[in-house]
Amino acid sequence: MSREEDVTFTLQLQNIRGILDVHTIPDNQFFALYEYDGRQLCNLVTEGKIFFNLADSPKINALALYREKTVIVCRGMLEAILKIAAELVTRGAYPRLGNLADREWIVNPDQLFPSAHETLKSLTPFTCDKSRFPWLESEDRLALFTIISSTMFRFVVLHELGHFFHGHGQRSSEDHFVEFDGVAGPDSGGNVDAQARETSADAYAFGILLQLQRDHLKSQKHESFGRRLANEFHKSDEDLAVFLSSIVFIYFHMTESSGIRQSDPNSWRHPPAAFRLTTVLAGLLEHGALAVPAEAGPRILQTAVLRSEALLTTMLDRLHAIEWLGSMNDPKFLAQYSAIYEALPRWSSSAGPRWNEDSTEHDRWTDVRPPQRTAARTGQRKSHVSE
Ligand SMILES: [Zn+2]
Repeated sequence: MSREEDVTFTLQLQNIRGILDVHTIPDNQFFALYEYDGRQLCNLVTEGKIFFNLADSPKINALALYREKTVIVCRGMLEAILKIAAELVTRGAYPRLGNLADREWIVNPDQLFPSAHETLKSLTPFTCDKSRFPWLESEDRLALFTIISSTMFRFVVLHELGHFFHGHGQRSSEDHFVEFDGVAGPDSGGNVDAQARETSADAYAFGILLQLQRDHLKSQKHESFGRRLANEFHKSDEDLAVFLSSIVFIYFHMTESSGIRQSDPNSWRHPPAAFRLTTVLAGLLEHGALAVPAEAGPRILQTAVLRSEALLTTMLDRLHAIEWLGSMNDPKFLAQYSAIYEALPRWSSSAGPRWNEDSTEHDRWTDVRPPQRTAARTGQRKSHVSE
């Protein structure tokens, strides 16, 4: 069977129809664009070891199909990303791009306390229709839409690659084990190990995203829109880190499961948005990235929090909810945070680029054993997962 047939089979086991044919969505060329981008990204980062497909499903999900070495982004996830990016651009986020006039902000009482998922459902679906999205005619606003949507989309794909990179799939004994990410109903049935896996995948994704988006901006600096994007978002690497973490936080916020902050932290599958932003920036602090000094971490976190809250307020006509970071100081969250950190080495590979390993045609990803250095790092601690 070809890889595509294998992928279709495994997707159908998950009640997903199969691989998406982007030609069936003629009113939105961003589907073809992001299908191409996802393939290029996986190819570039993994040196051709991991593949990419869009899947035909309204679910707001991304998947890692370990056996098929394939990252999947469902149509619903890409639609959600495009909706969020379009809403930000329509509502006047980053007004200097396109020289928009200041807009009046009126709080919409219906938008005060909806869950992120409800909000997502209420946003206008994006199509390339200039009568509905007049900013498609503006080079600056279109460039803004592209950089916001590509930041979210690439983060989602890189997060799945993070699961591959750290070898999470090889710990499962299930033959068709797949990783699910996104809005998949109530977030329960998880544990600290699941949260540590998500944290390590987030940290991996953010580190590469920084480099990738910086190189992308640099490659466009000879175009007029590229120069304007760089002036707005890349005066320094620290500047870029603030922009990217604000956008990634909006993605975390919009895909956070409802009621997660009130539920038992031990049952979470994904940590809440505030945890996820803090951990990606903690990773930055620990390892450094680009020309961002480690001591810039807290400053970036603070600025990113303020910016993303301002963006969410603009986008949703709601009051700000800046108390979220303070709410993370609740003892039960702090205890959970340390538990995740303690579990992290069990789910992290420090062996360098996994993609360089020699493998024969018949090697399945699931056959690759954890590298020795991982075993050494985890020390005597016993893994909770049967290998
Ligand atoms: Zn994940």
